[in-house]
Amino acid sequence: MISVEQARQIVLDQVNPLPTEEIALAAATGRFLAEDVRADMDMPPFDRARMDGYALKANDALQPGAILKVIGEVAAGRSFDGMLSCGQAVRIMTGAPVPAGADAVQKFEATEEVEGGVRILETIRPGQNIGRRGAEATRGSVLISKGSRISAADIAVLATFGYAKVKATRQPTVGLLATGSELVEVNQAPRTAQIRDSNSYALASYTIEAGTQAVNLGIIPDDREWLTSRIRDAIERFDVVALSGGVSMGDYDLVKAVLKDLGATIFFDKVRIHPGKPTVFARRGERWIFGLPGNPVSVAVTFFMFAFPALMRLQGAEVVDLPAVKAALTQEVRHAPDRRSYLPGRFFIKEGRASVAPLKWGGSSDLVAFRRANALLVVKEGVEKAEKGEPTDTILLPGGRLETELS
Ligand code: AMP
Ligand code: MG
Repeated sequence: MISVEQARQIVLDQVNPLPTEEIALAAATGRFLAEDVRADMDMPPFDRARMDGYALKANDALQPGAILKVIGEVAAGRSFDGMLSCGQAVRIMTGAPVPAGADAVQKFEATEEVEGGVRILETIRPGQNIGRRGAEATRGSVLISKGSRISAADIAVLATFGYAKVKATRQPTVGLLATGSELVEVNQAPRTAQIRDSNSYALASYTIEAGTQAVNLGIIPDDREWLTSRIRDAIERFDVVALSGGVSMGDYDLVKAVLKDLGATIFFDKVRIHPGKPTVFARRGERWIFGLPGNPVSVAVTFFMFAFPALMRLQGAEVVDLPAVKAALTQEVRHAPDRRSYLPGRFFIKEGRASVAPLKWGGSSDLVAFRRANALLVVKEGVEKAEKGEPTDTILLPGGRLETELS
């Protein structure tokens, strides 16, 4: 059986970024840049006032109380044509170009209007309250690198430098199939021996965290013919197909056999991971298939460890994993040393210290406990336990609420 690292390496080796496309800036949040973003001009583009006040020569205000002659006014969007001489000042508004000859701006609050001029109440250093041309960015410099996920702050940068359209990597299409004869739709009342399908909905939500959208293709009973036709159809229509259930050792766990029938290459079907050992990764042409275990917590863990990085890599992401930190364990954790465990945890900060508390959970079916997790705490294979206080790899789950005190 392969390790988590080996499995992840296989997945990442099998996927490459999809082609790029041009998208409107307004639709770019959360997408992945397929080009470096460069400044098309200096920013600020000219020496500009950072305050409403008076542009002047700092030398004229070496003593508090100096009186200067006001020779004009310049508002944002305008410029002052003349040249400032000694003893002169120009009223200036935030964002306006500083007139030639001025080397500082004194804010209104530190001035006083007097007959025919202005009194400068506080002294000022040369350069004060002036945003120098190019101080924030110089023309041609790279501001955001290829492979970044576009944030709200990035959008402001893109707009500033004229990116009405952005080159982004195409988002993979994702089809979701829930397998299991016990499953019914969320809007149905389960009869004896039935449960509602939660995995498809959870996977659709996890897929959004991975920067794309999934289509829920519904439930398939554990029937070889049904599985074959529905999986074939999904592989034909979607870049990535994520299945849940039907991959363990039960008599009706048919997903692997069906994928083989359909001509997919199976790269692995078991990983030394807990929860989630029976995880299948397969490929047919430019289609990638994840057969995730049926239990909801296993679905979450295997999605984030294997499918998430694949979806990120397909989008050209520079960073393909969820963020991880080291946090001190609040209590000893035992596990089976033959596998690496990803256990539901609550990450929190108390008195400035990053900590992680293992959650009480009833095993990989316990989705009610799992919803309280904001992190996965990692216990490496080869050890029987992780000690209390030990700095522990802690993967931060998306959307997890962060607490400063454990409640
Ligand atoms: P399996 O891997 O098919 O043996 O499923 C393992 C467990 O997960 C079983 O108890 C299933 O009932 C449960 N399960 C499978 N698919 C789903 C699903 N889509 N939603 C919720 N639970 C599921
Ligand atoms: Mg099943």
